[in-house]
Amino acid sequence: MLIGRRRQRRSRVLVIGLDCASPSLVFDTFRDDLPHLRQLMEQGRWGVLRSCVPCITIPAWTSMFTSRDPGVLGIYGFRNRAGTDYSALTRADSRAVGRPRVWDTVSAAQQTVVVANVPQTYPVSPVRGALISDFTTPSTDHQFTHPAPLRVDVLQHHPNYRFDVSEFRTDDKAALEMHLYDVLECQYQAFDRLLETFDWSLAVHVNIGIDRVQHGFWRFHDTQHRRHEQNRFSATIRAYYRWVDEWIGRLLRHADGATHILVVSDHGVKRMDGAVALNEWLRLNGWLHLKAPLPEGVTRFDPSLVDWERTRAWSTGGYYGRVFLNVAGREPQGIVSPTAVEETLDALVEQLGELCDEDGCPIPVCAMRPCEIYQAVHGTAPDLLLYFGDLHWRTVGGLGYGRPITRDNDIGPDDANHAEEGLYIWVPALGTGAGRSEERQLMDVAPTILEALRLPADPTHQGRSLFNLL
Ligand SMILES: [Zn+2]
Repeated sequence: MLIGRRRQRRSRVLVIGLDCASPSLVFDTFRDDLPHLRQLMEQGRWGVLRSCVPCITIPAWTSMFTSRDPGVLGIYGFRNRAGTDYSALTRADSRAVGRPRVWDTVSAAQQTVVVANVPQTYPVSPVRGALISDFTTPSTDHQFTHPAPLRVDVLQHHPNYRFDVSEFRTDDKAALEMHLYDVLECQYQAFDRLLETFDWSLAVHVNIGIDRVQHGFWRFHDTQHRRHEQNRFSATIRAYYRWVDEWIGRLLRHADGATHILVVSDHGVKRMDGAVALNEWLRLNGWLHLKAPLPEGVTRFDPSLVDWERTRAWSTGGYYGRVFLNVAGREPQGIVSPTAVEETLDALVEQLGELCDEDGCPIPVCAMRPCEIYQAVHGTAPDLLLYFGDLHWRTVGGLGYGRPITRDNDIGPDDANHAEEGLYIWVPALGTGAGRSEERQLMDVAPTILEALRLPADPTHQGRSLFNLL
């Protein structure tokens, strides 16, 4: 008999992604300025969500939503080696993701999803529901939605819809500040409308603006920064978090009593002190040789400059360091014997251990081998992944600095690097104990979503559900 039986509402999951959001800012420094996030913290469990290695936007969000590590995915950064020759690195877009993301699994189970602005979703793939692609989308001239007609709808409401600020490594801070609000306002409005329109089970949005505001304004915020300046931009990051918190309040209006809420970041943020010029260090220490003397000034690294028959190692720049050996039988003109790879890497790491800044202060290096940190190693992985100075130092790939470190960034002003600690706030629909909880990791997110939607667990997932949080 149906009379008297309460209809059980269908479970839903709302994922609010905040790229680069820092646990210490949300949980401590800005807590009193963020009423909606604070309320979620009072209702649920929260703590550090450890990023992957490398703690870089791509592959971090994909690691989160596939529950696979970057080695299994074969994605080691925005750009990757496509093979073992010396050709330039290629960008890892959605076509590089060979594993289902959690919304693919939810779609296949005939439940509706709404996905917007999640990194590495361009070119778009079909879902049951709606998808708007991410900051890597070239422009709104391209097909950036599924289904295709949604593009027209988005552009009708937002003729100036953008995927990212045009340049966050800029000295024009006032323009950057204004642009950060404009871009994200459109993105949030479009996502808000999708939440209204679709009868969704899973909804995911990622805000890239927090990452940009921190890279652009960190030195005004952080009194420990060597270029710290107190001025009107010193409140920019705090104000931006407050504005995002207001939007979170609006999005939460779509959550009913059967909605599980998850706030997550892919990594955190920390002060950047400078850059290790890794190819220059390799050149100055005899690991990398050039065909001809360099012209005056800094030269962009290009494989065509390298005398490969004398070169044992080279690298790329970025928020972390990657070193590739020139291995005989693997690279076209390799000279390092395959049997000597281990001892060569050991020697390289030992020598890197002597690295100091211009005042003679050591810059410690954390060196990781892919086979030691990943479940499997696919694609063309770096031979070494390097974190310098606890990630207070990034790397640059250029040549001609004349010394192994630089205080300038080769791609424009940038005040912050990524930290390994991201954050989670987990508020299951049926409630849980509230308060600070144990550290978890990115790959725990997808299993949590499947369990919340009462879908079968995927035995190939590398993470474990947050439902068993301590
Ligand atoms: Zn990120």
